[in-house]
Amino acid sequence: MIKESVQAFPISKVRQDFPILHQEVYGKPLVYFDNAASSQKPKVVIDAISDYYNQINSNIHRGVHFLSQQATDAYEAARETIRKHLNAEKSHEIIYTKGTTDGINLVASSLGQGLIKSGDEILVSQLEHHSNIVPWQMLCERSGAVLKVIPINERGELIQAEFEKLLSAKTKLLAVNHISNAMGTINPIKEMIQKAHEYGAWVLIDGAQSVPHMAVDVQDLDADFYTFSGHKLFGPTGVGVLYGKEKLLEMMPPYQGGGEMIAEVSFEKTTYAGLPHKFEAGTPNIAGGIVLAKAIDYVNQIGLDAIGAYENELLHYGTQRLKSQFPDLRIIGEAENKASVISFLLGDIHPYDVGVILDKLGVAVRTGHHCAQPIMQHYGINGTIRASFAFYNTKSEIDQMIDALDRAHNMLA
Ligand code: PMP
Repeated sequence: MIKESVQAFPISKVRQDFPILHQEVYGKPLVYFDNAASSQKPKVVIDAISDYYNQINSNIHRGVHFLSQQATDAYEAARETIRKHLNAEKSHEIIYTKGTTDGINLVASSLGQGLIKSGDEILVSQLEHHSNIVPWQMLCERSGAVLKVIPINERGELIQAEFEKLLSAKTKLLAVNHISNAMGTINPIKEMIQKAHEYGAWVLIDGAQSVPHMAVDVQDLDADFYTFSGHKLFGPTGVGVLYGKEKLLEMMPPYQGGGEMIAEVSFEKTTYAGLPHKFEAGTPNIAGGIVLAKAIDYVNQIGLDAIGAYENELLHYGTQRLKSQFPDLRIIGEAENKASVISFLLGDIHPYDVGVILDKLGVAVRTGHHCAQPIMQHYGINGTIRASFAFYNTKSEIDQMIDALDRAHNMLA
């Protein structure tokens, strides 16, 4: 089944859509394997940015003039595209943010205004990116709530039995990622959401790594909050999305005050706008929001199922080639259910040294702790080399990485 869809995957055409891929660095063809950090942009996305500034640039929601109405309509149409993409029920459940980090901070700051109290428990996991740890720690410091951590096994999977033991009537919120950026583990979030709900806890899903690679249906998952970043979804930086269930967002106080988020202001009393504007103070990233919808349209034209199957093939090919080529290579994170991320160590060579040599040979990987130091602490290491694939990558690029690793190995081992 997978083979067929991979054979049908229009890789040559897809690569033509990404101008940045067709260049050499240090005289070598660029191989871009840092997609978990940020993905490349198709030409339709790049063009849409200049179209916005050439044709309709204007502030939104306030102007009666033509351009302002055009920009407002495009921005709100984009919100509707995002709603459909996540299968949210209502478009005002889609809040524009700066990205995943901003979405998590929005929820933590808002819940911190009296909705999470001393003695409440917030559950995160050992797999989290720092942006799904630190805002909750800050909230715990302010509120007296207690942070609890779901541990992982040696494969880098959340230990479900331990998760269930941690749940209690005190659990107010579970904040967990859908896919780990450091290791690619895909978490069984639908089941976890259901279990957390049995205890009356709210659930926030960090979807930074999932939305670019798989279809997400927030109603089917029954997620209370789901957040992601535009720049990992082949869209611009500086824009992202927080989905929240209407009844929760209604109950939550605003996070930032300013223009756009008010109904009426006087020195005696200010009243707030309804959703989604209550959480969107100030002039937003208008072009970013509009263009994010173009990125979503682009991905949907290819199809997320086809993308997932193709990336899975790259994951298996890369894993097999790495393992068979280097007997002293150690893969960090071998979850049964895994996305197209391979974190590894080459003998006892420092990941940074490998990364520098790979770079000179045209191969862009990420080295270090990947903003997930608790994972590194679990394995007793300082960092890894991480190759993360997108649907515009190819097996021959993986071969180029293997050759480059061979050079690095010979020089450094
Ligand atoms: N969570 C995960 C799982 C991530 O991979 C990232 C980005 N590496 C973030 C959160 C933070 O995303 P951003 O920097 O776009 O806010």
